[in-house]
Amino acid sequence: MSDYQGGCLCGRVRYRIRGPFHQFHQCHCSRCRRFSGTAHAANLIAAADSLEWLQGEDQVRRFDLPEAKSFSRAFCTHCGSMVAYLKRDGSAVTVPAGGLDQEPDIDPNDHIFYDDRAHWYETGLGAKKYRQAPE
Ligand SMILES: [Zn+2]
Ligand SMILES: [Zn+2]
Repeated sequence: MSDYQGGCLCGRVRYRIRGPFHQFHQCHCSRCRRFSGTAHAANLIAAADSLEWLQGEDQVRRFDLPEAKSFSRAFCTHCGSMVAYLKRDGSAVTVPAGGLDQEPDIDPNDHIFYDDRAHWYETGLGAKKYRQAPE
């Protein structure tokens, strides 16, 4: 059991998550790809009462996709970074793994909606790797 802190890129929004994380999903669905602009979401799941705002809660905007049953996101209105949010049904908190200050002490459980994955996800894993941006 441990506490985590996370926040947005500009630093206005900060939050604390009381662990543990129960699940860690990498979601390749078209909604997650569209929202994130990348291959998949990386979402940690924690208890419904685990989220505490440290600052900037008034900067957070929530988006519930109208035609979806459960798709939601929350983000900093200043920099657009995804931040933690309570699921629509109130059952759990979803935490974007990349928004944490430290590494979560859980590895991804799965890839979900994997049939919807972008073709370039798997081919990209084999691409040439640099420590930083190439010259
Ligand atoms: Zn921000
Ligand atoms: Zn998804």
